[in-house]
Amino acid sequence: MKTLNKTIPVNGKFELMKLPFAPTLLEPVISAETMKFHHGKHLQAYLDNVNAALPGSGLENLSLEEVVKKATGGLRNNAGQLLNHNMYFAQFAPVQADNVPTGVLLGAIEIAFGSFENFKQEFTQAGVSLFGSGWVWLSANAAGKLMITQNTNATNPLQNGLRPLLTMDVWEHAYYLDYQNRRADHLSAMWQIIDWDIIASRYSS
Ligand code: MN
Repeated sequence: MKTLNKTIPVNGKFELMKLPFAPTLLEPVISAETMKFHHGKHLQAYLDNVNAALPGSGLENLSLEEVVKKATGGLRNNAGQLLNHNMYFAQFAPVQADNVPTGVLLGAIEIAFGSFENFKQEFTQAGVSLFGSGWVWLSANAAGKLMITQNTNATNPLQNGLRPLLTMDVWEHAYYLDYQNRRADHLSAMWQIIDWDIIASRYSS
């Protein structure tokens, strides 16, 4: 479950991240059918677009994170989507109803949001109220303080000087096969599959 994703291009190309779990593992929160399209089609398309746009951009051989910070136009959008999805698909674990963070990360959540329950409510509401397509993020600033942000389209908190820790994808392709228009139901269910060890490792790195 702890496989790190390759964010450095190999021979000028980024590679499709391998899912660190079987596509059925997250059911019923996310179906294997959604995983097939989301990882196999949507992410593949963003990856192909990045690899097509990199040559001649002046950003060849940079890490994906650096490309996301420095690119403009279509490359910025597709690289943002590639990084966002790589982080998204790497942060999950099997369904666990009473899934909670622990330790230093839990302490930071309680300082910033009062309680874990209150954090979940605020985060879910930020995802529900984000108009159109985008991502809701938990990030840390340079001082380690946690905050929730709504990022439209392909943007990543890195572009605003924050360290991204946890994300939920509120593009309709992330949930429409399973939940149709019920974005709130999807986001509420997602708390059962967050791998808090991964989020804690992002926070402490
Ligand atoms: Mn997506």
